[in-house]
Amino acid sequence: MGLLTGKVALITGGSRGIGESIVLKYAQEGADIAFTYISSEEKAMSVVHDAQKYGVKVVAYKSDASNYAQAEVLIQDVLATFGTIDILINNAGITKDTLMLRMTEEQWDQVMDINLKSVFNLTKHVLKPMMKQRAGSIINMSSVVGVFGNAGQANYAASKAGIIGFSKSIAKEVGSRNIRCNAVAPGFIETDMTHVLTDDQKKVYIDSIPLKRLGAGDDVANVCIFLGSDMSTYVSGQVISVCGALNT
Ligand code: NAP
Repeated sequence: MGLLTGKVALITGGSRGIGESIVLKYAQEGADIAFTYISSEEKAMSVVHDAQKYGVKVVAYKSDASNYAQAEVLIQDVLATFGTIDILINNAGITKDTLMLRMTEEQWDQVMDINLKSVFNLTKHVLKPMMKQRAGSIINMSSVVGVFGNAGQANYAASKAGIIGFSKSIAKEVGSRNIRCNAVAPGFIETDMTHVLTDDQKKVYIDSIPLKRLGAGDDVANVCIFLGSDMSTYVSGQVISVCGALNT
C-alpha cells in the first residue's frame, strides 16, 4: 500500500520538470493520475508509459491551464474517466524574465495568465466536486521568488505571490468542508526552467544555498506526496519552502 493508494490526482504541467517528478512519485505511491501538458505530446506519452509501470491508471490531457473554458472541460473529462478528483496540483508555469523597464504588456499578461489565472481556473471547477465529497487537497506551486522577490522577475514574482494569497484564502473559505489548500515554494530546482542559467550563475546560486546544491524535482514531489496524503490532514493554508534553506 502506498501513501496515495485509492486517491485520484490531477496535476497540471506533468510532461516535464517538477510536474513529471510529481507524476512518477504519485504513481509510485499508488495514486491514479490525470495530468496535463500544452505542447510536449511525445514527452507526455512517455511519462504516461513510465508512470503506468507502477500499475496505476494514468491519462495525459492536452489542456491550456490558462484557458477558463478548457479548464472546465478538463475537470468534467477527468471526473467522467476517474470518477473523482481527490488532489489537484496546480503546477503548470512559465517565466518571461526581463527587467521592468523592458517588460512588455504581453510578457506580463502571459505569466499572469499561465501562472496565476490557471490556479483560479482549475480550483474554481474542482471545488464543487470536492465539496460534494467533503474532502480534497489542493496544492499550488508558488516559488521562493514569490516570497522575497527577484530582480528581472517582477511578473513571475507577482504571479507566485498571488498564488500564496489565493491559497491562504481558499484554505479559509472551504476548510469547513474538509478541503485543504497549501502552497509549495521551491527554490532553484534543476529543470528546463533553470537550464537557461549559465554555469557561473548556477555557482552564485549554489554558493548562497546552505545545502550547497540545486534542488531536484523529486525534492518537490516528496513534499507534494505529504500534502496530498492523509499524513497532512491538519495542514492547510501553509506555504512550504523546498529550497535548501535559501529562504531562511
Ligand atoms: P518546466 O520544466 O518548464 O515545465 C513546465 C510544465 O508546465 C510543462 O509540463 C509544460 O507543458 C507545462 N505548461 C506550460 N504552460 C502550460 C499551460 N498553459 N497549460 C498547461 N501546462 C502548461 O517547469 P518546472 O521548472 O518544472 O516548473 C514547474 C512549476 O514549478 C512552475 O509553476 C514553476 O513556476 C515552479 N517553480 C519552478 C522552480 C524551478 O527552479 N524550476 C522554482 C520555483 C517554482 P509542455 O511540456 O507541454 O510545455
